[in-house]
Amino acid sequence: MHILDKNFGHPSRQDDDHEEQWNKWASSAGNTKSKSFNPPKTLPNPKSPPATKVKKRKVDQQEKDAQGNLTWLWKKKDTEVVVAVLPSQMKGRILLIRHCELCSLRPHQWLTGEVIEGVFHVAADKFGVVNFDNYEAVRSFVLVNNNHWKLLYIHAKTSPVFLVDPAQSIKELDDSEHAAKRIQEYFRMRRTRHSITDWVDVKWKGGVMGQPLQKDGCSCGIVVVKMAKAVMESFPLIPNVNFECSKKYMKRERRELALEILEASVFDEHTYCAMCAALRPPGSGSPITDWVQCDDCERWYHAQCLTMDSRDFKKAETGYWKCPLCK
Ligand SMILES: [Zn+2]
Ligand SMILES: [Zn+2]
Repeated sequence: MHILDKNFGHPSRQDDDHEEQWNKWASSAGNTKSKSFNPPKTLPNPKSPPATKVKKRKVDQQEKDAQGNLTWLWKKKDTEVVVAVLPSQMKGRILLIRHCELCSLRPHQWLTGEVIEGVFHVAADKFGVVNFDNYEAVRSFVLVNNNHWKLLYIHAKTSPVFLVDPAQSIKELDDSEHAAKRIQEYFRMRRTRHSITDWVDVKWKGGVMGQPLQKDGCSCGIVVVKMAKAVMESFPLIPNVNFECSKKYMKRERRELALEILEASVFDEHTYCAMCAALRPPGSGSPITDWVQCDDCERWYHAQCLTMDSRDFKKAETGYWKCPLCK
């Protein structure tokens, strides 16, 4: 929770958010379920959000049934709904994983950069072996021609530069050497322009790590993530990596990675908006806004984040309303 607070810029939630406390909507007789929130004219005293208490059972159930939850999410048509918020190794940053990004882990799909970064940060957090404040290596995921992932790994201690290519490539060593040259130029430029001398004396040279090769056109992202995990785990040594790249294995691996993301998520979907992952709508000066809850999955949304007009909102408020994910 403190990560979310810090990053969404509302440092004193307890003090100033009482106007946003969840109020049960004064519903018609017989229907006691709260599914929307209208800002009150007078500000109520702070009290704990009923949504948290009411929905707790559902969260526990989802945790137990992570596999089922993932199957359900993957069956749905791609949406922009936030399905996970991940702590990041970079201070003060979090990573949002949207439903469409999580869906890029489905079999035979091409991974998005967000999901690759997300999986990597989850692994870094789990291993806890790398101190990123004093990490003498750099890894980066490189997108080539908008359709192929490579891993760039530079190692300051032993000075090789690896541009790991999951596809069979006779040019891999040449490409790594070219990258080493560019990196050398970059550090020299940094010394000249910003007087930063870190790594400027390292004699960078290209290398080939010898990674397993993808067997289809869409598994480059999976291989790259697995390589990134391996280099991090064996740091400061260069890993000798070998894993299977068969269709069956890649399918299983994709599912595992998606579950890792969901399990590592710190997103409380019963308190935050499932569209912007914040308590207040982005760009809104006023904290007062309308909220609407999905009658199927029980996620909450800012009406503003769904660009609902007052007619749509009234309809959602009074009838059975399904969110973009459940539609
Ligand atoms: Zn929102
Ligand atoms: Zn829903």
